[in-house]
Amino acid sequence: MARPNQARLDLAALRHNVGVARALAPQSKVMAVVKANAYGHGAVTIATELDGLVDALAVACIEEAVELRDAGVSAPILLLEGVFEARELATAAQLGFWVSIDNEWQLQWLEDAIVPEPVHCWLKVDTGMHRLGVAANRTEEFFRRIESNANSSGEPVIYTHFASADDVASEQTRQQLQVFDAVCANLPAQRSAANSPGVLAWPEAHYDWIRPGYMLYGNSPMAAPHPNAQALQPVMTLTSAVISLRDVPTGEAVGYAASWTASRPSRIATVTIGYGDGYPRLAPNGTPVLVNGQRAPLAGRVSMDMITVDVTDVPGVRVGDTVVLWGDGLPVAEVAGHVGTIGYELTTRMPARTPRIIIER
Ligand SMILES: *Cc1c(COP(=O)(O)O)cnc(C)c1O
Repeated sequence: MARPNQARLDLAALRHNVGVARALAPQSKVMAVVKANAYGHGAVTIATELDGLVDALAVACIEEAVELRDAGVSAPILLLEGVFEARELATAAQLGFWVSIDNEWQLQWLEDAIVPEPVHCWLKVDTGMHRLGVAANRTEEFFRRIESNANSSGEPVIYTHFASADDVASEQTRQQLQVFDAVCANLPAQRSAANSPGVLAWPEAHYDWIRPGYMLYGNSPMAAPHPNAQALQPVMTLTSAVISLRDVPTGEAVGYAASWTASRPSRIATVTIGYGDGYPRLAPNGTPVLVNGQRAPLAGRVSMDMITVDVTDVPGVRVGDTVVLWGDGLPVAEVAGHVGTIGYELTTRMPARTPRIIIER
């Protein structure tokens, strides 16, 4: 028997989630964010499935965009951090990538570049997150310089990014929207602001383009349960299997550093997945997994290749039984909550060691 670990990818769920985003923002075009290997799902698989279904794709950098073009993906691809050096602009022009202009250095490179054809630009405005983007009061100056430059094609799209949109009570999002509306007011530009939480919870932020990432993978980015997130279906289900079973008497400890001790006669299942397979080492005792569809708590430290699970309350567990670490029936965000991180990190860190398997449905 082969090692049973799989990151199962449900592409029907991916298509369904695109539909959820479109239904929430029917007037907007959809730019699907597939950076960081499509949040760990596999960028070529995901982008190939989305090609033609969405209006554009977005990645962090040109290396990620080239990988997709090489794989035959034909959609426009925005480089969200723009270029890191001037000579990338010629490649971007050649391969039809769109580039973000985030600062004066990138604008200068664009103005000085010799490119085979003009490049479509997105101008990023810093409306309060203070990470990337041009100062709000310089938006018009940057916009005019880009649109009048022969190396730029079409009107630049003006966009911004939210810091706290996952919190529906956030004043910061309202303030960012105010700044954004003010700087765009007199410019003949398409606009974009909404990441996944913006799509789900801030209809006033939908504008001409939405930029969902995380929600397309079927997970809710919201800090609290949100009705618009309920229809999402997880794309990745991480599965493994029981490889060993034992009875542990009261008072005996399990695993490295003896961090879990049986408080009753316990049945412990050893599952062949660990931090070397993308399951977080910091998952504490009590983190839920599904054994034969039933919840059972982690018992003992996560090892590189294994975890141990208390299946005392799950009847009839046998070697070979399927274990779900997250996905269908167990949201990755819930697991991440136990670990003190977000679901984004758990899927994005999935190593190549764990095979991605496309399931048909
Ligand atoms: C990553 C990213 C997104 C997508 O964010 P999600 O929360 O995954 O939807 C959108 N816009 C920009 C600029 C990003 O960097």
